[in-house]
Amino acid sequence: MDAATIKEWAGVMGADICGIAPVDRFADAPPGFHPADICEGCLSVIVFASRFPTNSIYSSSPAPYTFVRNRMVERLDMISFALSEELERAGIVSVPIPSSEPYDFWDADRRHGRGILSLKHAGVLAGLGVLGKNTLLINETFGNMIWLGAVLVSDELAADPVASYTVCADGCSLCLDSCPQHALDGTTIDQRRCRERSMSSTEGGGWVLSCNICRKVCPNLTGI
Ligand code: SF4
Ligand code: SF4
Repeated sequence: MDAATIKEWAGVMGADICGIAPVDRFADAPPGFHPADICEGCLSVIVFASRFPTNSIYSSSPAPYTFVRNRMVERLDMISFALSEELERAGIVSVPIPSSEPYDFWDADRRHGRGILSLKHAGVLAGLGVLGKNTLLINETFGNMIWLGAVLVSDELAADPVASYTVCADGCSLCLDSCPQHALDGTTIDQRRCRERSMSSTEGGGWVLSCNICRKVCPNLTGI
């Protein structure tokens, strides 16, 4: 199977961008969260993303943004599912990675969760973008408004180069300064602080994402 065909399939299934990282780029992954821990014999990680429609971020209500986020999770999960199914039909061992929940790790004290594979870091290693100080993956064309998915495969596929562009201008700290929870330090995010503000329930019992300031204030919202 060649990489170009897989990327074409991902595009037909709804991905706007797709990159491939060889497994040896994941040497710094935490124990248990390395691609080979998830899929024995994994040689390549296919990472893809779809553009997240932007207008919902400007709504005064958190409901539209939450709605769009939930549809993006479904879309990326369907791409992962369909792509891994096609690859399996072609005789390739392929394991789809959920685009959000379920978490494989949860630290209740820190309210810190971790998916089975860090899709943001996989995106960096597959050349899809660079992490900003807001800890979001920023792509040259689509900015931080992307949602990610991945499939692990047993084939050695042609790798994409890691992105070499810069995303945070010298001296920019808009996201750090704007965060009402002081949850960002320029490298990591304090998930407990962030969750206290960004995840809430409406009186009717619905779950909403109630903060996206660090995404919205970034000059790279829709591209660099
Ligand atoms: S989502 Fe809100 S609370 Fe969380 S890090 Fe971003 S600005 Fe801070
Ligand atoms: S707001 Fe500035 S510092 Fe934060 S991620 Fe965007 S460019 Fe980087």
